[in-house]
Amino acid sequence: MALPLAPAGSPDDDDRAELERLAGELRRLQMRYGIAGVGSQRLDDLVRSRRGRIRIIDEQMAELAAERRRLVTEVAGYQKALRLARSHEIDQLRKEHAEAWSPFAIRGYRFWHLRQGRFYGAARTLWEEPHLTAVCGRGAGRDEVPHSDGRCGVPACGIYAAKHPHLLVRNLGGSWQGALGLVELTGKVVEHAEGYRALHARVVALAVVAGGRWLATDDATVIAVAFYDPIHALARWGELGRCGQELRTNLVEYLMKREAGPWTSESNSA
Ligand SMILES: [Zn+2]
Repeated sequence: MALPLAPAGSPDDDDRAELERLAGELRRLQMRYGIAGVGSQRLDDLVRSRRGRIRIIDEQMAELAAERRRLVTEVAGYQKALRLARSHEIDQLRKEHAEAWSPFAIRGYRFWHLRQGRFYGAARTLWEEPHLTAVCGRGAGRDEVPHSDGRCGVPACGIYAAKHPHLLVRNLGGSWQGALGLVELTGKVVEHAEGYRALHARVVALAVVAGGRWLATDDATVIAVAFYDPIHALARWGELGRCGQELRTNLVEYLMKREAGPWTSESNSA
């Protein structure tokens, strides 16, 4: 008995059953009347040879399907290894070029000069709000800012921040008026010996000194008001105090405590 070549209940099964029935009836009649040989033998041979060929093709298809499954599994395994290898190569390149992409914000310090009632960075950029995203001012493209391949010259683009607040304060004159701040750096951050250059910076703690008053805060609303109108913020939340060495030391300590503190990106009012 040949193996079934088509699913049970298919038209092919019906055909085969009908053909078996006809063949049986034909054999009975031939025996009854003593006739040898079958006139339809050639057609029967043709069907059998075709069925044999179909069986071989089915076996080959099963082999190909098995090989395909094996290849798909191998591709998945190699892709996993490739993903790891590429991540490793990227990490190595970033490490070699002192570049960090961190899911966590890197903390640094900045100062702003107070001019015409607003805060300006050292590079004379007006900070209208307590956050800023760097652009490359030398037409070196928007990708990969801050640039770390030297394409935009010196000083390279990015928002600068110092690793330690003392690095900033030591160069400020006795009559300096402005703000010191703790900033959160995100996006591409390039590390240098004493500081960082970052794509994004956001002020999370601020100390303002001007007009015989001072203010230290890590309240996001007060910080936002201070960047919009420093004099108003000092009048409303500030305290009287002479801008001397002692006050600056206290403000630096205040900011450093905030750096070590448990604040998160969303809530800085620890
Ligand atoms: Zn640049």
